[in-house]
Formats: sequence, structure tokens, C-alpha cells
Amino acid sequence: MSSSKLTSQETKEMVLWTAKEMLRTNLVEGTAGNLGARLPDGNAVLTPSSLDYMEMTLDDLVITDLDGNVLAGERGPTTEKALHLSAMRMHDDIDATMHCHAKFATMFAVTRQPIPAVIEEVVVFIGGDVEVADYRTTGTDELAEEVAKRVEDRAAVLMANHGLFAVGKTPKDVLHIASLVERTAEIVWGARQIGEVVPIPDEVNQTFAGYYRFGRTGKF
Ligand SMILES: [Zn+2]
Repeated sequence: MSSSKLTSQETKEMVLWTAKEMLRTNLVEGTAGNLGARLPDGNAVLTPSSLDYMEMTLDDLVITDLDGNVLAGERGPTTEKALHLSAMRMHDDIDATMHCHAKFATMFAVTRQPIPAVIEEVVVFIGGDVEVADYRTTGTDELAEEVAKRVEDRAAVLMANHGLFAVGKTPKDVLHIASLVERTAEIVWGARQIGEVVPIPDEVNQTFAGYYRFGRTGKF
């Protein structure tokens, strides 16, 4: 289901719920990380800057246009607003976005190694390896541009020396994607301790990546 099928109120409620889940499931600590979602009117809802997720309410969320102009809300939007808005501006099929600092995923981000898609469900839900976007300084439009272009045919990308960016149709989808990436990063890290990680056969990989593309674009 696309978040464009959700009402504005439902989208905001799901952003708030997902933000709290992101903290509860240890994808972030403190006030780190942030979320965005497209609203039915084409604008976006973003989590606010530097606010405890436990205390966050619907009134704390910030509504902006896709260029980042604040349309409603008492607080300032996340300092990573450009990241979320660039992804939604660049890709019509992305309606929800999450940035987090998941621990195992960030181990790959700081060593600038992709997380290989060696588990079938990763190919189906993410589209392939979770690659590493080139380093750009946090909070900049340059980072937003670099990261957003990497989610053309993938549901997640690592941000060098920083963390993870995940995209989907709804905030709940992106929580699933980010959790799956983190789980895979931990599995690959552990698997490398006990032996050689064996790739999925090419043909299967291509078929499953096709399922992901179909989910994104409606085309194989
Ligand atoms: Zn961050």
C-alpha cells in the first residue's frame, strides 16, 4: 500500500509510531535518526530536530514542501531534512524515508564495505547489496543528493562514516527495511567469523531483484 493511499492524519500517526519504534528497537540512540513521509497533497511530514522520541507527539511533527520550506509546525525540522526531501523529490515511487545509526550497519559504513545481499529475502525486499554512498558532510545538500541517487533501484544505502538510509512506500515499510538491513549486517559480520559467505546463485538473485523492482515500479 502506498502512503498516498493513507490520509494525512494516518501518515502522521504512522511517522510518529515508527519514530518511537526506531528508538525502541535500537536503530538509534537518544535523539539521533529521523523520518520523512509524503502526504497526499504532495508535501512532506518530517520528524523535528533534537527532540526525545519518548516525548514526541503528533504536534511536534513538521510539515514542509519538498523544497524544505516549513508550512506547519512549531518546531524546526530535522537537520537532515534535505536527505528525506531529495529522495522523495528524485523518486516518485518513494513515499517514506528513514535515516538511522544502526550499530552493525554502521560498522559496514565506517569500513566503507557494502552489506552483501546473501540472504534471499534481502534481495526481494531491498533489491540487492546495500552499497556505500560516497562520503559527504552530514546535513549538507551534497550528502542528500549523493544518497538520494543511490536509492533508485534499492531500498537502502549506507552513508559512509555515518549510518543508514532506507526508503519505502510507508513509514512502517521503512522500519522493516532498516531492521532487515541491520539484521543482515549482523549476520554477515558473524558469518565471516565462522567461514566463507557464499553468494546466492546469479539467476536466483536476478529473479528476486526483479520482484523488488516490480514492487517499486510495477514493471519487471
Ligand atoms: Zn545521522
